[in-house]
This record gives sequence, C-alpha cells and structure tokens, in this order.
Amino acid sequence: MAKKKKNIPTGVPRREIGEGMVIRNTGSSYTVRLVDGSLVQCRIKGNFRIKGIRTTNPVAVGDIVSVSEAADDACYITTIRPRRNYIIRRASNLSKESHILAANLDQTLLIATLRDPATTTTFIDRFLATASAYDVPAILVINKSDTWDDDDRELGKALKTLYESIGYPVYIVSAATGQGLEALRGRLKDKVTLIAGNSGVGKSSLINALVPDAGLRVGRISDIHHTGMHTTTFSEMIPLPGGGELIDIPGVKGFGTIDFAPAEVSHYFPEIFRFGKQCRYGDCRHTGEPGCAVLPAVREHYISQSRYDSYLSILEEASEEAGADKYRKPF
Ligand code: GDP
Ligand code: ZN
Repeated sequence: MAKKKKNIPTGVPRREIGEGMVIRNTGSSYTVRLVDGSLVQCRIKGNFRIKGIRTTNPVAVGDIVSVSEAADDACYITTIRPRRNYIIRRASNLSKESHILAANLDQTLLIATLRDPATTTTFIDRFLATASAYDVPAILVINKSDTWDDDDRELGKALKTLYESIGYPVYIVSAATGQGLEALRGRLKDKVTLIAGNSGVGKSSLINALVPDAGLRVGRISDIHHTGMHTTTFSEMIPLPGGGELIDIPGVKGFGTIDFAPAEVSHYFPEIFRFGKQCRYGDCRHTGEPGCAVLPAVREHYISQSRYDSYLSILEEASEEAGADKYRKPF
C-alpha cells in the first residue's frame, strides 16, 4: 500500500486552481468550495501535520486551502492556511491519534433544553469552558420554549440573566414555532458556527428551521461512501440562506473533554477569574484558601452556586489527572 501511494504523480506539471474552503470531509476525499462558489473533490498532497499531535485527518472542514490540478486530472489540496482555531477529539479512547472536527470557527451554539431532555448546568458550563479553551466564542440557545409552563419561563429567564451577566449571549427559541429565530439568524449571519448539543435537544429541527433546504442536504449524505463511517466522525458545512455557514457534526454533542491544568481552570470561568484577581495568593484555587475572594462572592451570590459547582467538578478532575492531592471541597 505504501508503495502505491508513492506512485501519485509527483513533480508532474500542475495547474493552480485557486483557494477555497473545505466544506466536507468523507475520509477518502475532501469537498472544497472555491471562491467562485464551485465545488471540487480533492485529495491531499504534502504534509500538513500539526506539530506534536497525531491526527487521523490532516485537513478539516473549515480549512482554507489551495487547490491544484495534476496531470492525471485529479485535484489536490496543496497548501493549507494557518488555522485561527480548531476543535479536536481523540479518535477513540485508547488511541493516541486525534481527529480534527472543524477549523476556523467564528462561534459555536450550544443548544440546551429545560426538559425532555434536561440539559444540566454542569454540561453547559463544561461546554462553555471548553469552547473558551479552544478560543471559540460560545452562544447559549435554549430550545423548546413552546412547551414551557410558568415555572419553566421563570427558569429560562433566570438562566438567560445568569449567562448574559457572565458575558454569553443567550437566545430563547422554539424550533417548532419559530419563536426567537429571527434574532438568532442575525447572530449567525456571515459567520461560521458550530452547532452542538445533547441528542434530543432539537439540533436537527433547528438546522431545518434555519435552513429550509437542509433536509435535502441531509438526504444527500447517503450518497457518500460510508466506508469507515463508524470509526470516524465527519463534519458537514451547511450554508445559511442569508450568508454564513452552520457546521453540524453528526453524533457529537459537545467538544469532549480537554485536559485542563488545575491552575488554568478558572481562566475559563470569566466571573470566577475576575473575582480571583483579588485573592491573596496568585495561585489560589478558590477552595478555602486564606484570603480567597471567590468564596465570599459565591456566598453573596455575585457568583452563582451552580457555576462554582461546575468549576469545582472540572478542577477536581484536572487535579486528579495532575496527581495533585491538595484539593479539598470547601463546603
Ligand atoms: P436532535 O437529536 O438534537 O437533532 O433533536 P431533533 O431535532 O431530532 O429533535 C428531538 C425531538 O424534539 C423531536 O421529536 C422534535 O420534534 C422535538 N423538538 C425539536 N425542537 C422542538 C421545539 O422547539 N419544540 C418542541 N415542542 N419540540 C421540539
Ligand atoms: Zn481564591
């Protein structure tokens, strides 16, 4: 097999076709949308590995690449522009290889629901912290507002107030009735947005509501060869009617876990980070150290208890991984 690869024509005359964005990755080939809107199927040529990381796919959806035509008429991706950001996950639990899910994201939407299924604040907070670690701005969307009773409306409002006070935009929507979607459309316009959320929260319904012909696109996926489909996840880019793209990663609910260093966990909780600047010790973990400014802020409700609990759960995990035994629960 390795020998055969070497037979791909090297050094033969090639014609530059131009630059474009990778909009689909099927494992064996990449679909690139050129600047003029036309689509070309490409293979890759050259070494695009990220230093220090072994990846199953060197090129990902969202990558800006240049495409050339070789003497055999096939199209090749020949260079890739440096990525602004990218999200990655381990190819499998035991694997040392990672899979790049998407690159050059402008933002990500987390779709959450109060019930059926209930999205926990722990899940929301972990997602937001991970997005921040990946340098991807996150937006919270609470779906299925059409099913809410008065208590749910109160809870929805409280969550909106909480997350907006930290700096995250929050949209309360219903994919079923269209409520709140106009405002959300404005937020998505001309942006590349990753859609995430637990299964059942309405990811597909929302995509269909935002992109009237997305249903057709989902149908088109079945045309693609399914070889290796069960071992690797492929992302797809869905153009929005008003400009911009949604990235859907079938079967992926969030970003997976990141190995946070204990000392950096608070960097990804903006309000904890802000209060933490006033702690007596620069390396304060906010778990009962003398002169901690975060604990009083939690007690006085400047920092929400649920956010603090999420912070602790990530810190606990990070500390276990780092082999630290100093951690203890303050309350
Ligand atoms: P996904 O797994 O996140 O893609 O979720 P789906 O889009 O498949 O939706 C899961 C279920 O929730 C389906 O039965 C949808 O009809 C329902 N659903 C999605 N959005 C809404 C909504 O805004 N309101 C209501 N009442 N049901 C919804
Ligand atoms: Zn502290």
